[in-house]
Amino acid sequence: MGIFDQPVGESTVMRDEAAILSRARGAFLGVAVGDALGATTEFMSPAEIRARFGVHRRIVGGGWLHLKPGRVTDDTEMSLCLARAILKNKTWDLKAVADEFLAWMRSKPVDIGSTVRRGIRDYLFKEQLETPPNEWDAGNGALMRMVPVALYTLGDQQQLQQLVIAQAHLTHNHPLSDAACIATGRMVQAAILGADRFALHTIARELVAQYPSFHFKDYHGRASGYVVETLQTVLHFLFTTGSFEECLVGVVNQGGDADTTGAIAGMIAGAFYGEAAIPSQWLKRLDPTVVREVTEAGAALVSRSPHFTAAHRERLFAGGEGHDKRRQQG
Ligand code: MN
Ligand code: MN
Repeated sequence: MGIFDQPVGESTVMRDEAAILSRARGAFLGVAVGDALGATTEFMSPAEIRARFGVHRRIVGGGWLHLKPGRVTDDTEMSLCLARAILKNKTWDLKAVADEFLAWMRSKPVDIGSTVRRGIRDYLFKEQLETPPNEWDAGNGALMRMVPVALYTLGDQQQLQQLVIAQAHLTHNHPLSDAACIATGRMVQAAILGADRFALHTIARELVAQYPSFHFKDYHGRASGYVVETLQTVLHFLFTTGSFEECLVGVVNQGGDADTTGAIAGMIAGAFYGEAAIPSQWLKRLDPTVVREVTEAGAALVSRSPHFTAAHRERLFAGGEGHDKRRQQG
């Protein structure tokens, strides 16, 4: 019996699993919290936000969509479509994702992006599951909804890339959107597995090395729905603040596509700082039905990921004959 089979090792595994589940829930809750917080300042300029709120840091609804406090928008709703498609089918099925998007569009959502609408209509009328490459598809609509895929593929980078691109191309087909989705997925997964901020920064720098337009060091202050400016805003505040709350407050006070920059910042910061770092006054304000569904989905998705199924297999074999065989195979 080796050192890794000692009871103390087993409890470490379980403590790690609890931490991973908590950070996974934090990532999905972060999307919803950032969406609800940022919806208030969507399309406002930083100066308009200052004049109206001083610093906007409470979930109060309103905004151009006249939302009830705690109401979420397309960012969270489309994320939930992806989560439902995976969890209902217990596997990845792109058509099931498209069907959930279609049902959502038919439910007359409070907001829907034009690129998203076009993609879902092309699925409806042409059964098209991959929209052709389009230079106008560099919006943030594929990035904002990808947290379920990051959770579900934890432990398998190749699967992360495949599924995150497949879901993106239902509506958005552009190299900058693809690159942003992959890098964000890698950051979320690394954070969930306990990476420090230097490791996250390295992933962000690798994205910039490949696509220099994402550079975020000297932040220009634009927070539009262009995926480059969206992610620059998120990365700037992620790396210049020290808490979930300050990261999100910084992002949503930049205005622009604030609900979406809020959702994406919430995704990464929620994974990094964990569920417990999300201010309770924000969670109390959030629609309780949404809180329940994203919390449950966050844990359920990551429990079905390769990381967990592989860990489970290893523990089944630990100590027995299978364990020895595995060792021999190296
Ligand atoms: Mn939105
Ligand atoms: Mn938005």
